[in-house]
Amino acid sequence: MGTREQRRNGRRRQRRRRSNFPLLLLLLLVVIAAGGLLLNSCVEDENLPAGGDSGSVSENDGGEQEGNAGAPAGGENGGGEDDPSTPPEDADNQALWEGYTIQTMTEEDMQVGLQILVSNEHMYDFPEAAESQLVKLVDHKSSSYTSNVNDTLILPVTVEHLNDMLDDYVAQGGATDIMVVSGYRTYDFQQGLFDRNAAKNGLENAKRFVAQAGGSEHHTGYAVDLYSINNGDYFEGVGEYKWVTDHCHEYGFILRYRSDKEEFTKIGPESWHFRYVSVPHSYIIVDHDFCLEEYIDYLRQYPFDGEHLTYTVGTQEYEIYYVEGLEVPVPESGNYTVSGNNVDGFIVTVEK
Ligand SMILES: [Zn+2]
Repeated sequence: MGTREQRRNGRRRQRRRRSNFPLLLLLLLVVIAAGGLLLNSCVEDENLPAGGDSGSVSENDGGEQEGNAGAPAGGENGGGEDDPSTPPEDADNQALWEGYTIQTMTEEDMQVGLQILVSNEHMYDFPEAAESQLVKLVDHKSSSYTSNVNDTLILPVTVEHLNDMLDDYVAQGGATDIMVVSGYRTYDFQQGLFDRNAAKNGLENAKRFVAQAGGSEHHTGYAVDLYSINNGDYFEGVGEYKWVTDHCHEYGFILRYRSDKEEFTKIGPESWHFRYVSVPHSYIIVDHDFCLEEYIDYLRQYPFDGEHLTYTVGTQEYEIYYVEGLEVPVPESGNYTVSGNNVDGFIVTVEK
């Protein structure tokens, strides 16, 4: 191997020695190319303002959106065939990339984050980054509700907002008998649940109401099932409990399985199952009457190199965009979150 390497090096050296004359030719070529580039960049500069104007869409009315201000919607950028991982060098794209840097993610990262979609079609592999964050619900829950067992696990962000929601619910006169009967579930636990349900109610029923092991949102630590002790039944979201269903999005939760969305979720209606997706996503989902499956698809309309979705909750403005693949442009500064979608990419949420 060593000798072949040496031979190759020798050949290279020879070539260099012989190349005195072509060097002049090369120089000439460089001069010509440089002239061409200069001409070219002038032309692109002229096109810049027009491209920017036609690209920006009325939803973005804020003048101080540094990152997005120069980001034209798809068209002028020569389409999406360019690999977004390398900031392109032409003038249009320099404006697009201003204020952003690339965060390189992994396939596992795609299963981590506040907006991951987990279902029988988009299974979950229990990424360590999420598993290691789990805490005991009873150690962190407020006194506004109870837990049926002491070893229920949950993600801290979920219990924090569950506390806020149920504290406010009780404070405005709500019932004090709500009990969390399910938080995080392991693969084996879900398998047992499915098997027991299938044995008791038949396979078809189990398929409709119990996710397969690996396909349950309860694996993520972002989902809870609520129960009413007074009614001796799962939370139905009616009567005095309706407040929770009506207001959950204000705390970042959505009612995940609705009767009118079964065609998308493939799970029968569950008035007791709440999923944390965070604000502003919960608001947008409610605004558009989406289920999570529809929302994940909807966000594809807002790629990084296109128009970004902007949304305001109270005084806080958010900017959201979707990135396919593992090279994720993120703001160089400021507050933002990156969440996998557990399908094919990432959702970036920027606080403006
Ligand atoms: Zn559930």
